[in-house]
Amino acid sequence: MSLEISAPKLTVTILGSGTSQGVPMIGCRCAVCRSDDPQDKRTRSSIYLAIYGSAATLGPVERIFHYAFNPKSKVPGYVHVLPHVVTEPFELCGIEITPLPVPHGAVSTLGFLFSQAGRKLLAYLSDCGSIPEPVRAAVAGAEVLIIDGLRDKPHPTHLTVGAAVEIALALGARRSFLTHQTHEKRHVDRMRDLPASIEVAYDGMKIEFELTP
Ligand SMILES: [Zn+2]
Ligand SMILES: [Zn+2]
Repeated sequence: MSLEISAPKLTVTILGSGTSQGVPMIGCRCAVCRSDDPQDKRTRSSIYLAIYGSAATLGPVERIFHYAFNPKSKVPGYVHVLPHVVTEPFELCGIEITPLPVPHGAVSTLGFLFSQAGRKLLAYLSDCGSIPEPVRAAVAGAEVLIIDGLRDKPHPTHLTVGAAVEIALALGARRSFLTHQTHEKRHVDRMRDLPASIEVAYDGMKIEFELTP
């Protein structure tokens, strides 16, 4: 996901709406993986701000992509990043961002709440197996929710579509979006089964917020 703020507007772009295998999945011949609908192409669910993460996330990222984190690396064409370990709310361009630890099997991942002057704009909970009560309380009243909705079949570390829909309805956001999806269903088929306030995210999708100047 990327954030673009050109006051008085905030634009959130879904960079990836798929699970870790991506869709199409390598070697899979299913109808979803072979679909030519661009909304069925799902790259790994991602957030541009992921470089703001917990120490548990940033440690391994730095180890694996050490070339990108080494300030002395002179290899041309490589990305260079500046990691920020976050545990407390922080501010970027006037938007307050609150990290929210959520369970993901044996580890926890971070969701984020984006607010402006007390107005809860967006809750981003893209990678989790449940949403604990304190996190539900923190994101209650958010205008938009983006939530892990992996697939129909239960999974040890991710929310099913059924569970995500139930949580989304309980939280009552104006619009909710399922992300982190497998190749189980085509976009158009998944959309057909959902309540009116819940949609399926797709790569490149943009969500806009009018900000208070
Ligand atoms: Zn497939
Ligand atoms: Zn995950």
